[in-house]
Parts: sequence; structure tokens; C-alpha cells
Amino acid sequence: MNAPEPRQAVAAPLWLLAELTYRCPLHCAFCYNPVDYARDRAELSTGQWFDVMRQARQLGAAQLGFSGGEPLVRDDLEELVGEGRRLGFYTNLITSGVGLTETRLARMKELGLDHIQLSFQDSTREMNDFLSSTRTFDLKARVARLIKQYDYPMVLNVVLHRFNLDHVDRIIDMALEMGVDYLELANTQYYGWGLVNREQLMPTREQLQRAEAVVNDYRARIGNKVRILFVVPDYFEERPKACMNGWGSVFLGIAPDGTALPCHAARSLPGIAFPNVREHSVKDIWYASGAFNRYRGDAWMKSPCRACPEKDKDFGGCRCQAYALTGDAANADPVCSRSPQHADVHAIVMQAQAAQEAARRQQVQPIVFRTDANSRRGGSGP
Ligand code: SF4
Ligand code: SF4
Repeated sequence: MNAPEPRQAVAAPLWLLAELTYRCPLHCAFCYNPVDYARDRAELSTGQWFDVMRQARQLGAAQLGFSGGEPLVRDDLEELVGEGRRLGFYTNLITSGVGLTETRLARMKELGLDHIQLSFQDSTREMNDFLSSTRTFDLKARVARLIKQYDYPMVLNVVLHRFNLDHVDRIIDMALEMGVDYLELANTQYYGWGLVNREQLMPTREQLQRAEAVVNDYRARIGNKVRILFVVPDYFEERPKACMNGWGSVFLGIAPDGTALPCHAARSLPGIAFPNVREHSVKDIWYASGAFNRYRGDAWMKSPCRACPEKDKDFGGCRCQAYALTGDAANADPVCSRSPQHADVHAIVMQAQAAQEAARRQQVQPIVFRTDANSRRGGSGP
């Protein structure tokens, strides 16, 4: 592989995320899977995943996440979990709960699965089922009880946006009733289907502030018993997040077809040939590929990041967001107040208020759900 030499010594990946499949029974309007996911059907086989896991573990990766799509649609999930544990990974299943029967859970427990993260769309059946375009609320509640019964920490994830931010109190109550240990309240980030539905999902600043105050109030009341993480959407910040802790720094994602990615959304970036584990070793991909070296170090940075004293803190933010909002992935993430395009982000946030008004008058575009048909249409609705 011809690759530019990174400026700094490259450490081994810590976290391997195995996106086993893009198939999923749910149709979430904020799904972070690529909008054109329906084109990708050639999933890696069990043996190929074993090989990827073995190579990544040899490089030094310690954590292994199984996600998708819905990883439980793969019949070989139990085998993969068993192999991950045999190799010495800390294993984490990231699931919607659909397909998690007691038999499968018992088997994975036996095989040593360490951790499960269960997602809910809302605290009410109506909103949960509307946002996922499925009838899955009751099933998820059953799965939550099963997870508890099998002695796993109760780790729940709820994606927040305009439709559910106003009842974050009820979401927390639901989680507490389920015996939650760790609750991740992650505001929608605008990639994949979230970007397609940005106008519909973006909250107002007031909504966000109210919700954050509610969360802080719960935190003060419950203390350390339950950890509640509230992730503010980037658009409302003045500094970007250190996306993936730096491109090609700790995170190695493998898409269902074997494409290796430095972040979930990286496929949205044009002009980068992301390497595939079918053709290259994991070691070559990590250390030598052009794709993984592309935004390592700071040689690629432009002004204002290049000379910025904070560049080692946030690495210039998110490349996918920089591309989506400015058309150039090497620009500063425009969430940063030092970016010349920061005003555009403010304008998008301000539009959210107008969009809410329009929604009330039913003049806003309908939500585009993540379905195979909408994916084949490139993310436009029927
Ligand atoms: S966000 Fe929803 S549709 Fe996307 S993979 Fe997760 S459960 Fe499936
Ligand atoms: S200018 Fe670039 S490096 Fe500096 S804070 Fe903003 S995004 Fe981060």
C-alpha cells in the first residue's frame, strides 16, 4: 500500500467495532447507517469475521463491539461472541433488542458476553413505535427485564431530538423503573439518516436547555446510583468534539462488507478509497493505508486549525461534519466558533425554530424512514 507517512507515531487500535450487518427490522429516522446501505449486501462470513477479530486482537485491540444494523439478525452472533471472548476481548452487544430471545441471551451469557446496550426510541409506546416505524416497545421492555434477569448491568441508550426532548423526564423515569445503571441520552447527530431528516429532528435551543436542566435535576436527586450521560448535539456547541478521539487513533470500524472505517460515517467522504479486509491485512489497513493516514497528525489541517492551540484537544473536530457542512473534509469542523463557516451552523439552528412552527401547521417535509426502498432512492421519500 502506498501511504503517506504519518507525522506522529501511530498507536494500535483499542476498539474494534464489528458492524455485522446493515439489516435491521427497525426503520429509525435518525439511523447512522449510510443512506445507501441497501446497496451493500455482501456481508463478511463467520470465518472472515474470526480472522478480522484475530488480527485486530494481535494488533492490540481490547474492546469489541457487535453492532449493525441489528447484529441479532446474524445467526452466527453467538459464535462470534464466543470467539471474541476466546481471543480475550471485552465484548459488547449493541442492540435494538429485536431477536434477543431468552435462549440466545442464555447462550451468550454462557459464552461470556460482557455487556449489552439496549436502545429505546422513547418512553411511550406510541412515540417509540412511530420513530422506529415498528411495534417494538413492548418487546424492548421484555428484553430489558431479561437483561436484568441475566445479571447484566442495565445500559440503555435513547436518541433525543425534537420529538422526545420535552419528555426526557418520563424517559428517565422509565429507565429508573427498569433498574438502569447507565443511561445514555444522546442527542441526534446529523449523519446518515439523521442528516436526511435534520429539519424534522433538530430541536430548538430552548428545548435543549429545558431538557438539560431536567437531566441535571435528576442527577442531583439520584446521585451516583445511576450514571446519566447527556450528549449535546454538536450544532449547539462552540467547540467540536474530538471525533473518535482523532482519526485513526483508537477506533477501527469494519462495515458489513469488510470495508475498514476510521469512524461510522466516514463513507460519506468522497475521494477516499477505504480499504477492505478481504484484500488487506488489518495491520496494513491500520498503519499503512492512505485512508487511515489521511487525517492523522496535523499536516492536513488548514487555517484556523493549523495554528490553533486547541488542535491537540479536538483534532479539528469531525471530518464528516466538516464535509457535510462546508464541502471540504479538511476544513475546521464548522461547529467551532473559530471556523469561518460557523455562522452557517447558527443559521441551521435558527431554522429549527421556523421548522417547528411549520410542523405545527403541517407544512414540513414528512420524515424519511430508514427503509430499503428509501435507501435505494438515495434517502428521498416516496
Ligand atoms: S438506529 Fe434504528 S434502524 Fe438504525 S440500526 Fe439502530 S435500530 Fe436499526
Ligand atoms: S480552530 Fe480547529 S483546532 Fe481550533 S478549536 Fe476550532 S476546530 Fe479545534
